[in-house]
Amino acid sequence: MRASVISIGHELLMGKTLNRHLVTIARSLKGIGISIDHAYIIKDDPEAIKAELSHIHDDVLIFTGGLGPTPDDLTKETVCDFFQMPLVLHEPSLEAIKAQFKRYEKPMSDSNLKQAYFPAHATVLDNPQGTAPGAIFKTPTDQWVVVLPGPPVELNPMLPKVKAFFQTTFNEIMYEDGFLVAGIGESEMEERLKGLYAQFPDVYIAPYAGNGEIQYFFTASDQTQLKKAMDAFKARAEDYIVGPYQTTFEALLIKRLSDLNETIAVAESMTAGMVSARLTDIPGASKVLKESIIVYSDASKIKYLGIDPKLLEEKTAVSLEVATAMVEGLHAQTGADLCGAITGYAGPGADEESPVGTVFMAVKYQGITTTRKVTLQGNRSFIRERTTAYLLHMLLKRVMDHGRNN
Ligand code: ATP
Ligand code: MG
Repeated sequence: MRASVISIGHELLMGKTLNRHLVTIARSLKGIGISIDHAYIIKDDPEAIKAELSHIHDDVLIFTGGLGPTPDDLTKETVCDFFQMPLVLHEPSLEAIKAQFKRYEKPMSDSNLKQAYFPAHATVLDNPQGTAPGAIFKTPTDQWVVVLPGPPVELNPMLPKVKAFFQTTFNEIMYEDGFLVAGIGESEMEERLKGLYAQFPDVYIAPYAGNGEIQYFFTASDQTQLKKAMDAFKARAEDYIVGPYQTTFEALLIKRLSDLNETIAVAESMTAGMVSARLTDIPGASKVLKESIIVYSDASKIKYLGIDPKLLEEKTAVSLEVATAMVEGLHAQTGADLCGAITGYAGPGADEESPVGTVFMAVKYQGITTTRKVTLQGNRSFIRERTTAYLLHMLLKRVMDHGRNN
């Protein structure tokens, strides 16, 4: 089944709001054999919407936004007018809207009435978060229309219901799996995979490159083919597979340390707590995160990690020597089993020897210290985020490699 996501709203075209619905809808429906073939953003104008509709021929049309009570909210009315489908009162929706107002102790205004009108035989999706129910209905052209409200808090809870509806209607089960890959660039990875895609034409393999990682999604209706494709992928890229596609470096790291009954400590200069923040996103981090120090200034590096001021002067704070001294100092101070340190220039200021994007990382584990220098290109937030991912990956690799040799 081919689908279009049609998002209605000036604010999306003006760049005021990011079209997040496209991402959540595409991800939510991928597993059931609905592929999003087209996406549109159209301003809140009935004529503009109808003009586009006259040449959208996909099987499923998913509209987002414009289900509110105000006159500029006209998605449902415009779509039903285009397909010549009269709107009739849906009593349960009217009752639900009235109940919403009662709960907030406010009078219901007449403008909300239109939110309870749908084509006859529509499947109405209730909206406990707001007054605009969504709906699914079939048009006289045999296309499926889904209308969903704009606010993410209202739209997101409806997606499982949309998924369940189409799963029952189309009766097509798609299997999904994948890998999280890191330590290799996207193009180098694609080189390794040359020919693999053609070998498995019935398996949809898609890479999603993140900052410092790539997720490879595999989707197929035949589970055996899916497994064969995954095995073939593994044979070509084993060294770079970090875990299953839905995992993260930090989740794997916390789990591994927890299993080993070991602790971690981090000293962050340039990233100022970003590594620690990702670690503490994971439930159970308190069991393994022993200490985490932000040592942004030279003075704090001296005070908390015992870095020799002469070393800082001689080598500057952004150097391999200081990164190493940071991790050694951190280990001496905390005694944590696994220690990691970051120092670098995120910009705009830097020195002549080390331009913006120069980053040094150090990891100490089981008495062995490893270091890494990277030179990154991008803005301040890109450099900081990428470095955060790199250190987490480096830490994870050390504890995983240890496991492999024992
Ligand atoms: P309301 O009852 O709030 O008016 P609505 O269904 O009419 O809801 P819109 O008016 O189109 O929806 O959008 C309401 C808000 O929802 C927008 O201000 C925006 O913050 C958010 N929103 C709308 N479309 C999107 C989108 N495609 N991606 C992310 N957020 C969106
Ligand atoms: Mg609105």
